[in-house]
Order: sequence, then C-alpha cells, then structure tokens
Amino acid sequence: MVKYSIVVPTYNEEKSLQIFHAAVTKEFDTLGEEYEIIFVNDGSTDGTQSVLDGLCALDKRVKVCRFSRNFGQQPAILCGMDNAKGEAVLVMDADLQDPPAVALKMIEKWKEGYELVHGRREKRHGESAFKKNTAKLFYGFTRKITGLDIPSSVGDFKLYDRKVVNAVLSLSEHDRLLRAQTAWLGFKQAFVDFERPQRVAGKTHYTVKKMCKLAQAGIFPNTDYTLTLPLKSGIALLVLSVVCMVVFIALSCAGVSFGGLIAWIFPAIGVATGAVLLCQGLTNIHIAMIYREAQNRPKYIVSEKKNFVE
Ligand code: UDP
Ligand code: MG
Repeated sequence: MVKYSIVVPTYNEEKSLQIFHAAVTKEFDTLGEEYEIIFVNDGSTDGTQSVLDGLCALDKRVKVCRFSRNFGQQPAILCGMDNAKGEAVLVMDADLQDPPAVALKMIEKWKEGYELVHGRREKRHGESAFKKNTAKLFYGFTRKITGLDIPSSVGDFKLYDRKVVNAVLSLSEHDRLLRAQTAWLGFKQAFVDFERPQRVAGKTHYTVKKMCKLAQAGIFPNTDYTLTLPLKSGIALLVLSVVCMVVFIALSCAGVSFGGLIAWIFPAIGVATGAVLLCQGLTNIHIAMIYREAQNRPKYIVSEKKNFVE
C-alpha cells in the first residue's frame, strides 16, 4: 500500500525536474515508507516530457500523466489527486519552492492526527512586490466577499489526508481554486511555517492574465454578492435620482435658474451606464460559469500515462 503520493503539477520545468527528483527522494527515503511521485505534465512545450520519461525509466515510483494541452495548475493537481493511491497526498511545485524537508514536517503533523496541513510562507524570496501585494489584496477581498476563512500566506503546498482528497474530488466545479475549496471543506487543519526559496531554475508561469483567471475561480463560485450588486446599485441610483428630482423641483419653485445643471447630464448618464454594464458583466461571468458546468466537459484530457499499474 502506497503511504504518500506526491503530486507535482509540471509546466515547462525541464531544468528543475532532475534536481527536484533527487531532493525529494533524498528526504522521503529517510521515512522508510512507500511513496509515489506523480508528475502531471500540463502540456509543456519544452523538453519536460523527455526528462520525465528518463525519470520513469530510472525510478518506478515516478508516474506521469501527460495532458493533451495546457489546462492549468489547478486541473493538473486535480488529475494528480484522481490518480493518487496514497493515504496522504502532498502537493508540491516542481521548482523546489516547496522544500521537501518541510513536506516531512507536514507528515509529522499528519501523524499527530491533522487532516489538512498547509505550508505557510513566512518569507518569500524571488517574488516581485507586485505579486506579493496583489496576492495580499486579493485574499483580503476574497475573504470578505465570500466569507471563507482562507488562511494568509498559504498556497497549494499542502498535505491532504485521504478523507480530504475524497472530499475535494467530490466537488464538481470546473472553475476551482483549491485554496478556497479547502477553506469551504473544513477538516482538522494545521500549519507548517517555512521560508519560500527562489525557483531552482526557470521563471514563474503566472502572468497577470493567469492570475486574474485564478482570482475569478476563487471568487465567483463562492459568492452571491456579485449577483446582488445590480439590486444594491439600482436602489442607490434610484434614491439619488429621487433626491435630485426633489431638489430640482424645489429650486424651480423658488425661481432659481439651474440651466447649468444640464452640464451634469452627460457624466450622470456615463456613471449610470457604467454601473449597469459593470453589474451586467459580473452577472455574465456567473452565466459563463453556469454554462461550463452545464456543458460538463472533462476538467482535463490525459493523452498518455506512464508507470501506472492498473
Ligand atoms: N504550473 C502548471 N501549469 C501552469 C502553470 C504552472 O502545472 O499552467 C506548475 C509549475 O510547473 C509549478 C507550479 O505549477 O510546478 C507553480 O507554478 P509557478 O512556479 O510558475 O508559480 P509561482 O510559484 O511563481 O506562483
Ligand atoms: Mg514557483
């Protein structure tokens, strides 16, 4: 019986993989327990697959799922969980920013009885101030708008007990941010603090566009707030219009000329139209998500699997 499954979402990481494999096996071999390493090649366009083929030939504990194209880190983690046999699943980045020694500390917590263990970044090296600040803003905002208790300074580096893995797999959303889903799921949770090092090689794959997509997946499936915004802004605009109308009527009754107010018409129309379009846009994001759920396409497509024994 496999005790631990290490799930590694992998996208264009040809330079990191051998170093990652050596570092992980060095640490995990000290446990004397059975483990597997599942690399999910998320449609890499560099030499990632051939490095993975080499690792598969060298080490039968290494397993690979190759996606038919790039589906994203979250679907890659999901695929790893779908294929994991372990009693506990550890999700780690391929670039060694999630140190294997910290993973062993997570295992200690699991053995104490915790069901979900988060790696918490005390310090983060090699990340831009823009990334750190936008992440802080996003999680503050998401916590407020969704009411979910998403922990601070925590990413996808986590240990999941089998129970939690099964619970994650029971959630059917196509748009998903595991950090939000695990906050919704609950379970007995613990943290292991660590200093996040720089990538061992290459550079981050998270462009602003990818970060926005992830942010969207964290917010919209978890809140009705955006759907109630048209109602709230509609009421506010209505009250404002009535107040303006009363003021205008009072002014005209008092014989005060307010021809200059004509100048206000265009900005007022602009603000009102902007508010309507903003609310419509937010609603449309929900509709697009509902449409994706109705289509119910697979969340990823695997074109090849290696070293899995069915
Ligand atoms: N990754 C992936 N698919 C993607 C982007 C990234 O599987 O579309 C993987 C990547 O190879 C790495 C992990 O997800 O193992 C985290 O990505 P990255 O290091 O670029 O993110 P950062 O650590 O900068 O937030
Ligand atoms: Mg990284």
